[in-house]
This record gives sequence, structure tokens and C-alpha cells, in this order.
Amino acid sequence: MLDLARIARILARGTRLRCPRCGAGPLFRGPFRMHGECLDCALPFEQEQGYFVGAIYVNYAATALVLVAVFVVLQLFPGVPILLQLLLGGLLAVLVPLIFFRHSRSLWMSLDYIVNPVEPPPRRVGPST
Ligand SMILES: [Zn+2]
Repeated sequence: MLDLARIARILARGTRLRCPRCGAGPLFRGPFRMHGECLDCALPFEQEQGYFVGAIYVNYAATALVLVAVFVVLQLFPGVPILLQLLLGGLLAVLVPLIFFRHSRSLWMSLDYIVNPVEPPPRRVGPST
């Protein structure tokens, strides 16, 4: 059964760059460096080598969307020289993936978690040894 509230909650965590499982732990410890696992619930962030290849697709889609939108807007102003349009497009093609890097990884993790939820390990009950 499709639980839209759960999907919206996980995607909201993704937009806030938080752990898709608990929503509390931050994903990044620097501009481009991620934590190995959630600081709050210990969800491993890079679950296998190549896991974030999907984030490249998310980033590519976002970049293409921005470039198409800019192209459409530029068509409203026929006086803009083609060289300026190409320079603007080239600049955006470099900057948008860098700016969107963190969110593309976060949204990829959220999408993956929606499809493949990883349950937390059972908590210990009783006195610890
Ligand atoms: Zn977490």
C-alpha cells in the first residue's frame, strides 16, 4: 500500500539533508564530506560501493531542468546574443551540479529509503553486561 504521508516525510528529510530513517542526524560534516553513518540511528549512508551513482542521475536531471528553464526564458528575449546564452549555459552547467551536489545525494538516499527501508537493529532490553 502506498503511504503518501511516509513518502512525503522521507522526502522532506531529504530536502533538509537529514537521515532518511530518523530525520535527526545530519548527512554532511563538510561541504562535500558525508558522515559514514547516521549520528543518531547508525543508518549507514554509503551502503555499498557505487551507491551514489544514482545521485548523479538526480543531479543531472536537476541540472538539465535548470538549463531548459533558462533556455526557455532566454527565448523570451530575442535580443540576447547567442554567445552570451552559451556562456550562461556553460556556467550553469558547471555551477548547478556543484550547488546541488548535497541535495542530490540526500534525495537519492531518500528515494532509496522509500523503496528499500532499512529497519534499525533491535534495542537491547534489560541490564547490559
Ligand atoms: Zn538516522
